[in-house]
Amino acid sequence: MGAPNTLKFQCKCGTVTGTIEQATPAEGDYVVCHCSDCQAVPRHLGAAERILDEHGGTALYQSRCARLKIASGKDRLAGLHMTDKPTLRWYATCCDTPMFNTYATGKLPYVTTLLANCDAEGRAALGEPVGHLFLDDAPGDTSGLKPLSMNALLRRFFKRLIKDLFSGDRRRNPLFDSKTLEPIAVPRRLTPAERQAAGGT
Ligand SMILES: [Zn+2]
Ligand SMILES: [Zn+2]
Repeated sequence: MGAPNTLKFQCKCGTVTGTIEQATPAEGDYVVCHCSDCQAVPRHLGAAERILDEHGGTALYQSRCARLKIASGKDRLAGLHMTDKPTLRWYATCCDTPMFNTYATGKLPYVTTLLANCDAEGRAALGEPVGHLFLDDAPGDTSGLKPLSMNALLRRFFKRLIKDLFSGDRRRNPLFDSKTLEPIAVPRRLTPAERQAAGGT
């Protein structure tokens, strides 16, 4: 066993920086999501080239919520809702870089970090992705990619959820107020026209 891996992240302009502690295959899940919302977020923000792979995939690492440490630029983080769904998309307002996905509130604790913003060494320690979510939404031939169902990911998440609830870590997520579990910045919901312009449903 080596030292626990630390995943370093920064937004495109370098204002928002920080780390995901204990980022290993055992402590979280490296997945690639091809859903239309994950494709629409970087398109809306003008960051598709930085974030999306050739199959419209976003490389993600889902971990326990208190593993996120923001070193700088916390006041530059803002949240977007792409649809009526509860997923909250956090981005850096300094340079419109998509950064994290969470639930709408801190009540359901997880942080999913966009790996395109992370250092190569930290990423390499995550190994290969567990699988690819929502391949039906992916453009091009994806027959070589290993599918992963959302239910399979939820089962893996559930173990982390229990730990976050019982350890009290749920209240140590820097993106949510520790008392109210509301997001630190009031999220904005895209208008249907904005959503349509970003592509997808
Ligand atoms: Zn920035
Ligand atoms: Zn997605």
